[in-house]
Amino acid sequence: MESIDNYNFSGKRALIRVDFNVPLDTDLNVTDNTRIKAAIPTIKKVLSHGGSVVLMSHLGRPKNGPETKFSLSNIVDEVSDLVGINVKFATDCIGNDIQKMVQNLQAGEILLLENLRFHREEKKGDDNFAKQLSELGDVYINDAFGTAHRAHASTTVIAQFFPNDKMFGYLIEKEIASVSKIMANSKKPVTAIIGGAKISSKIIIIENLLDKVDNIIIGGGMAYTFAKAQGGSVGNSLIEEDFIETAAIILKKAQTKGVQILIPTDSVAADNFSNEAKTLTCSTNNIPDGYMGLDIGEKAIAENVACILNSKTILWNGPMGVFEMSKFQKGTEEIARAVATATSNGAFSLVGGGDSVAAINKFNLANEVSHVSTGGGAMLEYLEGKELPGIQAIQG
Ligand code: AMP
Repeated sequence: MESIDNYNFSGKRALIRVDFNVPLDTDLNVTDNTRIKAAIPTIKKVLSHGGSVVLMSHLGRPKNGPETKFSLSNIVDEVSDLVGINVKFATDCIGNDIQKMVQNLQAGEILLLENLRFHREEKKGDDNFAKQLSELGDVYINDAFGTAHRAHASTTVIAQFFPNDKMFGYLIEKEIASVSKIMANSKKPVTAIIGGAKISSKIIIIENLLDKVDNIIIGGGMAYTFAKAQGGSVGNSLIEEDFIETAAIILKKAQTKGVQILIPTDSVAADNFSNEAKTLTCSTNNIPDGYMGLDIGEKAIAENVACILNSKTILWNGPMGVFEMSKFQKGTEEIARAVATATSNGAFSLVGGGDSVAAINKFNLANEVSHVSTGGGAMLEYLEGKELPGIQAIQG
């Protein structure tokens, strides 16, 4: 396997798969540039050794082709500022015009391609699409830890077109080292904090974590599917009906395995999804009709904090509430502070996933946890001991 430190980039065009899936506000400004910053060492290495760089990434979840709000043109200025040179932009990621732009790229220059997911073939892992992408570089570098668990065209399938000239970037190298450390040596009690909105994408991981952890703190929108599974009334809170039964099975399995699952005792509920909403704090199992739980309440905060402070290893993925709105940020903020305090008391803490990273940055605590991972799902799957296709494709 080639390594970025030993490879000779002089006169070569490096096609780098980065994870620039950054959060944008309603004016399409980048609100958290952690993922862009994290890719800079790899980009600079290629440039400083006489190469040019073609960057490819996805942004958000476009459904049917191009959409302005998911265009990577929204982040070109931010990338240029962070690398310190003017980054060129290609309005697509494949095709003759793009080939020409790439051929005209000089050593020391960077071209950012348009969102890969504007083509359905990206997520399908289409061979032909991957081949077309591969023609844009002499050497392929995967530095997108956040998508390493996906067998997509640009993260996995493409690697076969670079039998020799393929390698990891610095970010993936660092991520693998940090996550491996926690796997090899996790001191008990181990606590996983899982929040965010999408229970569908995290429930399998929660189930698999039952064999690895002592406590699971559930927060965010997914808490209400668990509350419903326990027979609670959750008003208008976010619910994924299809997963109520799985949630009930997980609760039972946890009991058998002696894993403590903390579902928030109380919630801050709102009469609509806005910072101006009328709010009340109530039992999570008894949210009035017309109200939706948007943050964990004071009792839940106290219980979660006690559990975190008692832990020696902490994994955190997903916010406890709608922390982007000041009225519903307290749960996430208090949990972030507890993770920082536990870390200063000697615990090892790993925080991963776009929104948890945005949260930890919002509260200026990124330097007070052991490792901030740029990958959410990828981090959790790697921790479960799964082989990530993006990593396997490079390692061979
Ligand atoms: P995910 O991408 O699944 O990690 O979800 C992150 C998003 O979940 C954030 O943008 C939060 O605003 C949102 N979120 C957290 N708690 C809730 C909740 N109780 N109801 C709805 N959305 C929530």
